[in-house]
Amino acid sequence: MPEHPALLPPDVRLAVLGDPIAHSLSPVLQNAGLAARGFPFRYGRLQVAEAEVGQVFQQLRRTCLGWNVTLPLKRAALNLVDEADHEARRLGAVNTVAVRDGGLIGTNTDGRGLHLALDEAFGAGWERKRILILGAGGGAGSAAARYLAAIGVPCLLLANRTPKKLLGLEADLARHTHVETYGWQHLETAFAGAELIVNATSVGLNGAPLDWDSGWLRPDHTLFDLVYRAEPTPVVAWARARGIPAHDGLAMLFHQGVRAFSWWFGDPLPAVAMRRALYAAAGRGQ
Ligand code: NAP
Repeated sequence: MPEHPALLPPDVRLAVLGDPIAHSLSPVLQNAGLAARGFPFRYGRLQVAEAEVGQVFQQLRRTCLGWNVTLPLKRAALNLVDEADHEARRLGAVNTVAVRDGGLIGTNTDGRGLHLALDEAFGAGWERKRILILGAGGGAGSAAARYLAAIGVPCLLLANRTPKKLLGLEADLARHTHVETYGWQHLETAFAGAELIVNATSVGLNGAPLDWDSGWLRPDHTLFDLVYRAEPTPVVAWARARGIPAHDGLAMLFHQGVRAFSWWFGDPLPAVAMRRALYAAAGRGQ
């Protein structure tokens, strides 16, 4: 098989790999960290289709210090690293790879990133709520469900447009927490049983109108949207229009990215510079 044609310039020693990847704010976030630490190399982005990911990992291990992996490559990455830590194994996916002594060592910082973003958004106590995950059969949604079950949330309500994607997940999680699953045609019932709603679908990204009924929302609901590309995201705007406290996924991107930086370089973590750069690039105050 020929080498991947679009590998990175020599001063780029880290990158985010995914498909699509042009929108990713990870380079802004990580390059701010590298500059703050005075490292003489950069972090780039690489468009990698699922069929190419194994080959690209082998090429990058010769020139890079590490990389992030995003949609749709995180599950495949788990089987491509030489060693995956406990967190990556329990989430069933890798989002961060470090090259250490020639070996690929994977972790997953998404669960902890979600946890810290929920703390930031809602303060203490969200983890005692009944949590509905929309899109629990997707890569991010299933990792979020596995993380939340592992930290001991009392009840998870899982919904996915394609119900068969929940089958294995439901059985795995039921060992840790109470689990209920809902087909997409029963979203109203799922909302009725939930207190915190986590949107892990990519709904709202492609400009298609949101067809969820705002009558499903109650004043005591809170909502967190993993999507972060527009402000407010369509799902966040939908909830806020009903007076529901709602936050998008920018803080999660920040927190998972700081933990990825730590996986590569350890302390000190240039978190202030990283947050400032990310929020400025997203057109937001902090
Ligand atoms: P994925 O594996 O492709 O999963 C996409 C999910 O969205 C699936 O559950 C899919 O349902 C569902 N979906 C897509 N279009 C839908 C529609 N029109 N109606 C209902 N459900 C729909 O993607 P992913 O990696 O999980 O990422 C999902 C989102 O999370 C993306 O927007 C990503 O950017 C975001 N994310 C954010 C962060 C962060 O740091 N903030 C981290 C990770 C991911 P089916 O199974 O039926 O196809």
